Amino acid sequence: MHTPQFSLEVFPPKRNAPVGTIYDTLDGLEGVNPDFISVTYGHGTHSDRTATARIANTVRSEYGIPTVAHLTALYSDEEVVDQALDMFDAAGVFGVLALRGDVIEGQREAGAFRHASDLVSYIRDRRPNLKIFGACYPEGHIECPSLDEDIHNLKIKVDAGATNLISQLFYDNDDFLRFVDKARAAGITVPIEAGIMPVTSAKSVRNMAKKNATVIPRRLDAMLEKWGSDRESLRRAGIIYASQQINDLVAQGVDGVHLYTMNHPGTTRRIWSNVKPLFQED
Ligand code: FAD
Repeated sequence: MHTPQFSLEVFPPKRNAPVGTIYDTLDGLEGVNPDFISVTYGHGTHSDRTATARIANTVRSEYGIPTVAHLTALYSDEEVVDQALDMFDAAGVFGVLALRGDVIEGQREAGAFRHASDLVSYIRDRRPNLKIFGACYPEGHIECPSLDEDIHNLKIKVDAGATNLISQLFYDNDDFLRFVDKARAAGITVPIEAGIMPVTSAKSVRNMAKKNATVIPRRLDAMLEKWGSDRESLRRAGIIYASQQINDLVAQGVDGVHLYTMNHPGTTRRIWSNVKPLFQED
């Protein structure tokens, strides 16, 4: 029987946060056994471009966990991307999640990379042995007029050299499963990991859903209504919701699950203890 992948995502602490914060997160994840951890990349010209590589290096060398570094390209030219790739080599990452990044109002694009697929082929040419991950959107990317068109564009990204895909968050598994069927029908054969974001606050769920045009199913809406002003109860219900999503996805034979930790190790640990048997070989 095929055992799905299980991976986690962490983000570098904010610039003004104490340096040790990431250790609190990583120490707090002790006992969780991911196949890899991915580290997000601060987008835009004003972000700290070295943070991802530094954290990736810490995850790999101090915690012994294989690491993937995110990289966005809309506001970077080739030189910045080359520097990032050199830093990722030094950090020992086995893969890069190549992203376009969100459009930032008022900030001028560098012009080198229009779509994530441009970055993918650039990296593929320079690092033939690196795994290249790409993002995908079970409900379609917000800027794209239709899911079919988005999947057509996704195929371009895969043909450019992406070896793995990780999905945007979603709350209805049927959306993800339908998307995977469509992607397979379009000739996309690489592994597709399902991105799961645990519910921790009603406000952030509603904001994220609005930003990404993610559907909030009725049973989640009921949870937000009932416990929206009781953070701890909502967090507990969110742990159950995410665990059930994962249980169902694994039963449906998904390639893997990517858990957005939001740097909340306690929530991640509790979900892991619920779903751990699903990711262990017999
Ligand atoms: P693309 O694949 O370029 O797609 C963007 C839009 O362009 C889509 O509508 C697509 O249909 C369209 N498109 C793509 N190719 C073509 C083409 N050839 N012709 C015409 N249209 C095309 N953001 C960060 O800033 N930092 C992070 O670390 C980060 N990590 C993420 C991790 C995951 C798993 C996901 C799902 C998202 C992440 N993001 C991150 C957010 C991401 O940057 C945004 O969702 C962004 O809006 C799109 O990036 P993309 O790489 O999917 O872009």
